[in-house]
Amino acid sequence: CGIFAYLNYHVPRTRREILEILLKGLRRLEYRGYDSAGVGIDGGNSKDWESNARSIQLIKQRGKVKALDEEIHKQQDIDLDVEFDVHSGIAHTRWATHGEPSPVNSHPQRSDKNNEFIVIHNGIITNYKDLKKFLESKGYEFESETDTESIAKLVKYMYDNRESDDISFATLVERVTQQLEGAFALVFKSVHYPGEVVGTRRGGPLLIGVRSDHKLSSDHIPVLYRSSTKDKKSCSTLPRTDQDTCLFPVDEKAVEYYFASDASAVIEHTNRVIFLEDDDVAAVMDGRLSIHRIKRTAGDYPARAIQTLQME
Ligand code: GLU
Repeated sequence: CGIFAYLNYHVPRTRREILEILLKGLRRLEYRGYDSAGVGIDGGNSKDWESNARSIQLIKQRGKVKALDEEIHKQQDIDLDVEFDVHSGIAHTRWATHGEPSPVNSHPQRSDKNNEFIVIHNGIITNYKDLKKFLESKGYEFESETDTESIAKLVKYMYDNRESDDISFATLVERVTQQLEGAFALVFKSVHYPGEVVGTRRGGPLLIGVRSDHKLSSDHIPVLYRSSTKDKKSCSTLPRTDQDTCLFPVDEKAVEYYFASDASAVIEHTNRVIFLEDDDVAAVMDGRLSIHRIKRTAGDYPARAIQTLQME
């Protein structure tokens, strides 16, 4: 019932700090109600963030965020003092709709035993039985009773059946959402895409906070479009068609992103936010945020802009 994700790009953070940010985000969303909580973070303990990101550690617990916090501190194999120059972590509080509250049914849900793809979900997937049947027929084995698990398996299916190796994480997620029915906000993370995170929504809330000490001075920075031609002109000068993708103009070295169900979880870090609209697919890659809208209805759609929230 609550989504929180945090990505630091060239802002060094220890694993302890990253976990604190994630848990604090979850605590801010506690009022929405939940029965279990979980996090997905990078697994390795080396000095190289990229090789650490080639494995994912999941920690999930029934009950309060406090119980999750205790569970995290029981983990023997994670070194809390390892510093990450780049890292993406996702966190969730669950209000069970499909499957009882339990660690295996908690989120993140995963694609497979190696945690290749993980996802957090707020909402309900109404066609999950059909998706599950299809995926089982392709050999994917399910472990939970959730509707969400079919999303984790489906993104791996899209990856396993990719036509080329340079397919982007955002493209995989777009293909997944085209198969989903119901209401959702989703955030994905993968060992195949180190330092990246992808979020999307349809009917469920999701916003992105952006924090950077540079170049964020004007109030409504237009979000840029990356067209299929790889043209990097700004949104205002490109035709806004489904061919185009918004690219937020953060070129500087250090930036942090927060994905959350609710602005109350982000406001302590930044007041610069982008509210996603239905069918937006937002991806952070190489420290840059791009937003692409899947074409479901004809016509233009407006460029996304960063808004400045009023601090209370
Ligand atoms: N339907 C999903 C589940 O039961 C997500 C519930 C939620 O929004 O927390 O796992």
